[in-house]
Amino acid sequence: MIHISNLKKCIIGIRHIVKILVILIISAILILGIIKITYKQTYSVSLNGEIIGYTQDKVNLQKRINDYINKGNGDNIAFVELKEMPEYEACLLKNDIQTNDDEIFEKVASSGTTYYKYYAVTEENEEKAYVKEFADAESIVNQLKEKNSTNSDKIGIVEKYSTEQAEYKTVETAVTELYKEKKVEVAQTKTQTKPKATYTGPSVPTDLGVSLVKPVSGVISSRFGIRSRDNHKGLDIAAPKGTAIKASASGTVIFSGYGSNGNGYSGYGNTVAIKSNSSLTILYAHCSALYVKSGQTVSQGEVIAAVGSTGISTGNHLHFEIRYNGRQIDPQNYLY
Ligand SMILES: [Zn+2]
Repeated sequence: MIHISNLKKCIIGIRHIVKILVILIISAILILGIIKITYKQTYSVSLNGEIIGYTQDKVNLQKRINDYINKGNGDNIAFVELKEMPEYEACLLKNDIQTNDDEIFEKVASSGTTYYKYYAVTEENEEKAYVKEFADAESIVNQLKEKNSTNSDKIGIVEKYSTEQAEYKTVETAVTELYKEKKVEVAQTKTQTKPKATYTGPSVPTDLGVSLVKPVSGVISSRFGIRSRDNHKGLDIAAPKGTAIKASASGTVIFSGYGSNGNGYSGYGNTVAIKSNSSLTILYAHCSALYVKSGQTVSQGEVIAAVGSTGISTGNHLHFEIRYNGRQIDPQNYLY
């Protein structure tokens, strides 16, 4: 008898526990259900510390913003610079509050600075006419050559990017304005034409003695050389101010300071020069901050400076210059 009564008690005990568990599970499901009906999983988006809206799809929204930064909304835009990137934080939002991806995008976009891309046709490095397309600039140069304009060997093309669009000229107007007729022959023969500096040649080394790593990732805003930009001796990579610049190759810092006529880096702004071997020196220019000192050795990938716009520069970018045996060569032979 005692045995059976104990068993009964035990079964009642288990039933009791099961009952409580079922009640707990049902109430948990109910509460979650109510939350699900009332709230949705979203991200609050803030810009400069201020919440500007809510999104349910932060991946797509950020992709849209990234595309905008890289290309802008319209023609001839090189890139758009944002002071701050939006920040996302997961949050539950009441279902009756709307997410507003379009509005967020507009707010972020309007906080940016647009850099337009165009080309300047130069005469003796002085900007004379602006056109939107490289092909137009090229056509101006070619027409001046065909017409035997006396200044045709001093004409160059510079790729520009600026927060303001320039006043563009038609090819025809630019050619007319730049054309210079041949003067008296005697005077011509007396004038020695300066040999033109060239940076692409037969002996571009395929092996620098080291393999390089990218100093920053960003948008290439100006390429090397005489094709797209007359006498541009490096590669310009646009990136926000303060972006870490890494040493593309290890070596000894042979210069770290503000470029001037005295040190041979006039216009370069804050500059670091690192010698990697007897032939190879790499320059990092227009920096906002320098983290290394002359004489110091640095390893590849070490942060040496921060992106800026010091010296002759129209926006935050890294001017990346490779000198091999003293001659500038195209970084895109090796990187980017
Ligand atoms: Zn440059």
